[in-house]
Amino acid sequence: KNKQVKDYLENVYQIVISRNANEPEFHQAVQLFLHSLAPVLEKYPIYMEKRILEQLVEPERVISFRVPWVDDQGVTQVNRGFRVQFNSAIGPYKGGLRFHPSVNLSIIKFLGFEQIFKNSLTGQPIGGGKGGSDFNPKGKSDNEIMRFCQSFMTELAKHIGPDVDVPAGDIGVGAREIGYMYGQYKKIRGAFEAGVLTGKGVHYGGSLARTEATGYGTIYFVQEMLNSRDLTFEDKTVVVSGSGNVSIYAMEKAIQLGAKVVACSDSNGYVYDPNGINLDTVKQIKEVEYNRISTYVDKHPEAVYKDHCSGIWSIPCDIALPCATQNELDEEAAKTLIANGVKVVAEGANMPSTAEAIDIFLNNGVLYGPAKAVNAGGVAVSALEMAQNSMRLSWDFEEVDGKLHIIMQDIYKSCVEAADEFGYSGNLEVGANIAGFRKVADAMISQGVV
Ligand code: GLU
Repeated sequence: KNKQVKDYLENVYQIVISRNANEPEFHQAVQLFLHSLAPVLEKYPIYMEKRILEQLVEPERVISFRVPWVDDQGVTQVNRGFRVQFNSAIGPYKGGLRFHPSVNLSIIKFLGFEQIFKNSLTGQPIGGGKGGSDFNPKGKSDNEIMRFCQSFMTELAKHIGPDVDVPAGDIGVGAREIGYMYGQYKKIRGAFEAGVLTGKGVHYGGSLARTEATGYGTIYFVQEMLNSRDLTFEDKTVVVSGSGNVSIYAMEKAIQLGAKVVACSDSNGYVYDPNGINLDTVKQIKEVEYNRISTYVDKHPEAVYKDHCSGIWSIPCDIALPCATQNELDEEAAKTLIANGVKVVAEGANMPSTAEAIDIFLNNGVLYGPAKAVNAGGVAVSALEMAQNSMRLSWDFEEVDGKLHIIMQDIYKSCVEAADEFGYSGNLEVGANIAGFRKVADAMISQGVV
């Protein structure tokens, strides 16, 4: 039985490799996922009989399009846009848009694949999708950003809708970009369909606490992890990579709970502040000036800046929160963290740890929280934004934050229970994958081969 399941999983993985050449990030995400499923397939062979995995690894639809726009010099620029509508078994496709020069089909497919199970874990009725562009927002003027967003939406609008596919932000896409894209969508449709995008400004249908949700949710999840070993954030030293939306609000909540956050980073380098990172400065740099984190030391001469971002993992800490990007934490960084006594590693970013790093955490007694569970708070509050838009009303901050807190506690519980049920107690990675998988797989079986 065991061998049959192993062969089956290997076969599915080989199909993915041969059908999707040159997509290493997608292969990585699928492999990590399949790795967790053996016990559930042994107990419920129906998932194999119904060929659920073969269906899951193939996106329902992949859209690729040209995004032409005119820069401030009057020169025409051409970027590539994507939307991968991966799985709609439990709700409309839902997932962010990433604008970053590294974006390609492999990246969008790995993100869309992860999104299926993350969204399932939230308990909200949302399927999985992801999109984006290789457009580089760095150094672009506000007008260039607007023209790009409008061109991107001119094509994307043909494929989305409040009951069809609901994009949101990701790296390089925040409230400003969502606003420009929403304006263009509204103009094309000739209707105010608020639920088509989430992460909107609160003055036109956005939800309170959406900005904070991914970061706060990450910390609520880590609170549950710490609690399982009778620990709290009080007086813990925390390192948070990144300095975008996820990182900033993870730092904010950790500080509120009494932790000392000593470092954060961007794609150029990291800042170490022995007095504790000053969050007002980081917000000013990243949310107002759209500047580099290196400028932090201009205001805080006691801090040091190093132009080597993965060096951030050599700073001793109790809790490490990778909140920047995929594969930012490798085997060597994992070993260094362990040598320095790290107790918890929880992923605010998507797939920030390499497969080797994860093995090292799990084999060394580190509490490891996988991305699809830890960072699900962002998309969970996106689903709450959709609910408010449908009802044409808005909840206050405490209401949304309270619901987020409960959702994160429930996700933690689902992961622990699934891990226990299938003989992997304490392994949140296996627990998250199995719990996320089962709801989607059961919905697919119920709906037949479509
Ligand atoms: N980009 C976020 C994620 O990785 C949020 C997506 C959303 O709110 O739809 O889950």
